[in-house]
Amino acid sequence: MGSIVIVGAGECGARAAFALREKGYDGKITLIGAEPHLPYERPPLSKDGLKHEMPPKYVADAERYRTAGIEVLIDSPVMAIDRDAKLLELLDGGRIAYDRLLLTTGARARTIPGADDASRRIRTLRTHADAEEIRRELLPGRTLAIIGGGFIGLELAATARGLGAGVVLLEGLPRILSRGVPEDIAAVVAERHRAEGVEIRCGTKIERIDADDRAARILLAGGEAIDADLVVVGIGAVPNTGLAESAGLSIENGIAVDATLRTSDPDIYAAGDCCSFPLSHYDGRRVRLEAWRNAQDQGVLVAGNLLGASEAIASVPWFWSDQYDLTLQIAGLSDGAATTVRRDLVEGAFILFHLDDTGRLLSASGIGSGNAVARDIRLAEMLIAAGKRPDPQALGSAETKLKTLLAA
Ligand SMILES: Cc1cc2nc3c(=O)[nH]c(=O)nc-3n(C[C@H](O)[C@H](O)[C@H](O)COP(=O)(O)OP(=O)(O)OC[C@H]3O[C@@H](n4cnc5c(N)ncnc54)[C@H](O)[C@@H]3O)c2cc1C
Repeated sequence: MGSIVIVGAGECGARAAFALREKGYDGKITLIGAEPHLPYERPPLSKDGLKHEMPPKYVADAERYRTAGIEVLIDSPVMAIDRDAKLLELLDGGRIAYDRLLLTTGARARTIPGADDASRRIRTLRTHADAEEIRRELLPGRTLAIIGGGFIGLELAATARGLGAGVVLLEGLPRILSRGVPEDIAAVVAERHRAEGVEIRCGTKIERIDADDRAARILLAGGEAIDADLVVVGIGAVPNTGLAESAGLSIENGIAVDATLRTSDPDIYAAGDCCSFPLSHYDGRRVRLEAWRNAQDQGVLVAGNLLGASEAIASVPWFWSDQYDLTLQIAGLSDGAATTVRRDLVEGAFILFHLDDTGRLLSASGIGSGNAVARDIRLAEMLIAAGKRPDPQALGSAETKLKTLLAA
């Protein structure tokens, strides 16, 4: 095969490019990205990476791409795919031919329609450039208003408090982390934020946000106003599907791919945050994940499939979030759970296991300081992957090693 082109120079695209070489491909690889950087890690952007002025944490340095013979074009948005001619059109008018194409276009932050962005007082957090702009405002005496009580908003709140900024966090729903995080775990997170001085307000309805060069004002239904130096909107992400959609590829909450990550065009694959795929452990339910490890795993798997394998994605979704010294980890998906079992670990750490009505383990969510839950969540992931129906009593007892349930 002559040439593989990857559009989207993020985590997934970079991993796929290196994996192609590791799997023995010696043809041409071109990795094209819209941002002015080599691929970098996004998780630090709301955590330690926000604390000081620093360059992005690169997935690999320029030398590694050179050594691997991967051509990287940065600052080069791809504008169109001509599937008949197998050509890509770049913003600068350039054209690039492909034999096989991989789309790893990721996602972008969801915005509030009508919120004035020109003032730069209303921001979102997705890129290194976003983080740089936000960081400048995180100073003692400044007030940050965060809209959205999801992972990014909460991580940003923790980092901002560490830097001395005041934080008010507004959530429209009755509680924070309502998407995919059990209530008991969300309650621990909320309590910790409140103890650190974050004002969390749930059930708020925003009428309007006004902003000028110096400050922003959020008007709530009922007439109350909240003043802030900066507003960060953290209300989720939307997949970057425009390129695929204009090329006529199937879209279904992301670029629709089959279990081998192939799109509706046999020569085009998609992976990472931008795609939705059938998840084998959950009866083939179509999901789209926004998770760092998924981007890596799919990058590696799709590389093999671009080269002719047809391996199906079978990994269990896994996600982590760091806030203060707390780490939250989730393996699997809890939708459809019939029973919950709690396992208490040391120093207040605990894990909630969710089982379906046949006793099959669907997911495990844990919270604790540092690495407190890491080992058990890893084993839970293996139990989920193996389709196990562990004894609930054993799951709930910290005396029983989860490893023994794997063998059972
Ligand atoms: C602030 C933040 C914190 C996070 N923290 C965690 C965490 O703690 N744990 C966790 O599991 N996950 C976390 N994530 C999620 C994780 O970073 C993503 O799941 C991962 O980055 C997805 O990788 P990706 O390569 O699929 O997409 P992306 O990282 O979004 O990369 C896609 C790239 O494609 C480029 N692109 C898009 N369209 C085009 C085009 N037409 N032409 C050229 N280039 C294009 C984009 O500019 C982008 O650079 C976090 C994300 C953010 C934003």
